[in-house]
Amino acid sequence: MTDLAQRILNGERRALARAITLVESARDDHRAQAGALLAQLAKSNRQALRIGLSGTPGVGKSTFIEAFGMMLTGQGLRVAVLAVDPSSARTGGSILGDKTRMERLSRDPNAFIRPSPSRSELGGVARRTREAVALCEAAGFDVVLIETVGVGQSETVVADMSDLFLLLLAPAGGDELQGVKRGIMEIADIILVNKADGDLKATATRTCADYAGALRLLRKRPYDPDGFPKAQTVSAVEGAGLAKAWEEIQTLINWRKAHGHWEARRAAQARHWFEEELRQALLAELSRPGPVRDTVRRLGAQVEAGELAPSAAVDQALAAMGRESPGQGAKAQGEARKTRHRA
Ligand code: GDP
Repeated sequence: MTDLAQRILNGERRALARAITLVESARDDHRAQAGALLAQLAKSNRQALRIGLSGTPGVGKSTFIEAFGMMLTGQGLRVAVLAVDPSSARTGGSILGDKTRMERLSRDPNAFIRPSPSRSELGGVARRTREAVALCEAAGFDVVLIETVGVGQSETVVADMSDLFLLLLAPAGGDELQGVKRGIMEIADIILVNKADGDLKATATRTCADYAGALRLLRKRPYDPDGFPKAQTVSAVEGAGLAKAWEEIQTLINWRKAHGHWEARRAAQARHWFEEELRQALLAELSRPGPVRDTVRRLGAQVEAGELAPSAAVDQALAAMGRESPGQGAKAQGEARKTRHRA
């Protein structure tokens, strides 16, 4: 057991921060160290409740996380907050990374807040965030909140690494209800309509009823108890509805644990991430300096010059990598079938 692993197991936040920096690094030697560290820590078998949280900018995510996180740490729970920021993948800038957010929570000794790794593909961010989740679990955190902005694919990425998924929405008229994509509704376990206070309270209540109605129209999912997915109002500013949300989360999770869905979901997620990483690794192989990359570049230039059709170039590239092209594979299988039939 290395010193760093031991300090993480002891719950030292500085060691955790250092380890996350290590898993975020793209350097080969860092990757190797990170892999060894994660393997050591996996033996601890500690599990946190992983909660995904999404919402558009301005809906109140940081306000909610701060209030909700403080409520949990107030109950003696240790809370980690990680972020998947799709904007950083494109621009290197960040919607979520800003340090002044969640000021009170970041000073709480039972909390740990880490902004999204920047300048990377969403796939890379996903891997790093998953590894960061594993590090937080090893460090003994009870709850890991994984936050993302409600744009693009990042919600699915976060849902695929969470035990349950919260969707934070703002009070709105009926028109805007249409704007929430069906796919997002389908991955939400609990919809929280925020800002249910002051002048917005009545609108929030109406919006919540609209979403509850929309959720009832979705097909029943086998991993939900009766009544889920559900919608409720909260006010992150006033703290209203937060305890109820936590109760609902526990009800859902306890039911899923009792019925085998928690384990099954984690197992399916592990397989999903294995396949995803394999895909990434194969893609990375294409851009590693060497004969394969040279061939791919040469073929790319030929395609660009109109000398070669894209599909023919793919066949040649796969052949250069010592693999059968899909076309050849199908042919080979056909031959094999014929042979079997003859036999
Ligand atoms: P984020 O971009 O989703 O992280 O949103 P913020 O947490 O930064 O909040 C955006 C704005 O909404 C801020 O001005 C907050 O004060 C306000 N806000 C957040 N939660 C509430 C709430 O529960 N009620 C009201 N009235 N305003 C809120």
